[in-house]
Amino acid sequence: MAKIKVISPIVEMDGDEMTRIIWQMIKEKLILPFLDIELAYFDLGMKHRDDTDDRVTVDAANAIKQHGVGVKCATITPNAARVKEYNLKQQWKSPNGTIRSILDGTVFRKPIIIRNIPPAVKSWQKPIIIGRHAYGDIYRNVELVVDRPGVAEMVFTPADGSEKKVVAIHEFKGPGVVMGMHNTEKSIRSFAQACINYAVGEKVDLWFGAKDTISKQYHGFFRDVFAEEVERAKDRLAAAGINYRYMLIDDAVAQVIKSPGGMLWACMNYDGDVMSDMVATGFGSLGLMTSVLVSPDGKYEFEAAHGTVMRHYYEHLKGNPTSTNSIASIFAWTGALAKRGELDTTPDVVAFAKKLEEIVVRTVENGVMTKDLMLIAEPVVAKYAQTEEFIDVVAAELTAAMS
Ligand code: NAP
Ligand code: MG
Repeated sequence: MAKIKVISPIVEMDGDEMTRIIWQMIKEKLILPFLDIELAYFDLGMKHRDDTDDRVTVDAANAIKQHGVGVKCATITPNAARVKEYNLKQQWKSPNGTIRSILDGTVFRKPIIIRNIPPAVKSWQKPIIIGRHAYGDIYRNVELVVDRPGVAEMVFTPADGSEKKVVAIHEFKGPGVVMGMHNTEKSIRSFAQACINYAVGEKVDLWFGAKDTISKQYHGFFRDVFAEEVERAKDRLAAAGINYRYMLIDDAVAQVIKSPGGMLWACMNYDGDVMSDMVATGFGSLGLMTSVLVSPDGKYEFEAAHGTVMRHYYEHLKGNPTSTNSIASIFAWTGALAKRGELDTTPDVVAFAKKLEEIVVRTVENGVMTKDLMLIAEPVVAKYAQTEEFIDVVAAELTAAMS
């Protein structure tokens, strides 16, 4: 069988633990036998990040900037326990955070819909995609515990030497706590643009919710910047048949639960953090949630939304069989391939990616699935597939389809 030629390289970022094991299987069984492809490989495994003083993460991010498309395996974000476990030089930062800040991107999470894996919410029929603004608010806040009576104030000192602005926050009669947070117009604007671009690309409606009734200036600022960007893009949105809705965040939550899905829900940072976990769980399994980082200048990084599935890895190391869901990792590869094909104008690469996705979904619909899905499948299935067994069934189907 002749391999399909992928013209431009894809940046491949290897990772950790169980997902690293799965990654290798996907590459060997589902990608390399079918594609003639150049992979710019970066090993983001914990050990190699430590060996390179995390330089490899920065190099990988720069390679995505250069080539435009990357695919990433889940990686360990070290905490104190990991520093000990891997004998690390220091507690390196989250690779995802590093890549995100270099690409200045927005993360979109989209669940994979499979007929016999019904969502917890009966009305959901189409994906609910969450776009999370990944800069600022409480993630870049400053906090202060006050231990005695006094006045907390917010002070802005202009760089041009003009008059300071002082706002009283609260006059404390006793102990309490204060928080200061910020965002920038530039970041909010590129978030709104990224959401508009994604909605146009996927042809889905765009929703944005905030709490501007209470936070008239902070949340109001977000609402206004978003509205300006939507206004500037109104011809593109209209041409793609996309409606924009601004709602109070409470209303957005209620509407999302009642809706059939099929929209991009743009969320402020904290809302996106919390709601993406709610939506992922509602659609079934973390193993069905995909994630893509999109930069304002059109660079893409695809990955599974879940982590390295450490518990399964330790079972694997003990020699016990595992049943880890590889679907979101497979879809990271197909997402990257489809985007590569789109950017290179190679429809056969796009078609290969779509074919692989179809086969994965059909395999589950035919009753072959890992344990996490078996627990929620309707109708009930009698047994679950082990990690490699699932990938082997998909590989056999793919081989049959391609020859
Ligand atoms: P996790 O890897 O997402 O796994 C948490 C649990 O969710 C698993 O123990 C498993 O439940 C279930 N699960 C997740 N993915 C699954 C899959 N593909 N198939 C079957 N079950 C799945 O989160 P974690 O254990 O909290 O984190 C492990 C490491 O991942 C941490 O070091 C963390 O820093 C890292 N992490 C990386 C990323 C990333 O690179 N994007 C994201 C999140 C976390 P059961 O145990 O019940 O089977
Ligand atoms: Mg979260």
